[in-house]
Amino acid sequence: KDANLATLEVVKYVVKRFGLHMNKRLGQNFLIRPDVVAQIADTADLKPGDPVLEIGPGIGTLTQALAETGAAVTAVEIDSHLLPVLDKTLEHYDNVRIIHGDILKTDIAELMGHKPFKVCANLPYYITTPIIMTLLEERLPMERLVVMVQKEVAERMTASPGSRIYGALSVAVQYYTQPEIIFEIPPKAFMPAPEVTSAVVCLDVRKEPPVSVMEEKRFFQVVKAAFSQRRKTFANTLKAAGVSKDGVAAILADCGIEGSRRGETFSLDEFAAIADAWTRYNK
Ligand code: SAM
Repeated sequence: KDANLATLEVVKYVVKRFGLHMNKRLGQNFLIRPDVVAQIADTADLKPGDPVLEIGPGIGTLTQALAETGAAVTAVEIDSHLLPVLDKTLEHYDNVRIIHGDILKTDIAELMGHKPFKVCANLPYYITTPIIMTLLEERLPMERLVVMVQKEVAERMTASPGSRIYGALSVAVQYYTQPEIIFEIPPKAFMPAPEVTSAVVCLDVRKEPPVSVMEEKRFFQVVKAAFSQRRKTFANTLKAAGVSKDGVAAILADCGIEGSRRGETFSLDEFAAIADAWTRYNK
């Protein structure tokens, strides 16, 4: 029961015993560092009975660390080949529920019983952004998300206005949460080793957004427009989004923002001011 799954020996043994072929397309890289899985689970700060959602348990390496905290673990795995493996590797834990499915097609609110929960996952890198955006946009009753992502994606989540990597993901993540990079993980902590360095980010979900906007949809429309053409001045971005010449002048005058600036330099407050000016102009 007590064998730690997150070691090279155990992962190798499990792979051999079940004749697994790591599916690169599904982003299958398994952690082989007990200290790393423990630190990820620690960051989630779970108490016995706390509901936690794991995405992509793989062979159960992180799942085991989560289960050890006594939390009520629900893990969604897409690859049916891993189901018999998880049955075996986690057989001694009665606080783990494995669900076979695609997280992007799962009704998560329903799955988690419409109650508050945390997310803790070593995400499949090919769909990191869609997963994060879906979880946040659905306004699920999440308190905290602890996710392992590519280091570069973690840096984009926490980037500040004007930086080369500041983008729509930065704004959305910072609108819904307070993100913090907790630590980095080298490729050799995984089997097979991925090509990139990874990082664990802790996203504390905000109770209220940091800026208030009249129409949230408009806010995200402005953000999307600003980053879809990074080289354009903001006045031209608004024109490209279908606003008339007079409209652009009126919106800029209302919010007091220079039309010659580029959208990628705007703070959340500035995006909100523009969105509200646009909303007022449309009324
Ligand atoms: N949790 C394990 C670990 O830390 O060692 C494995 C993490 S591995 C990076 C990502 C896992 O996500 C794989 O097991 C993969 O099969 C699974 N996965 C990929 N796409 C998925 C999806 N759409 N829904 C649910 N699981 C998915």
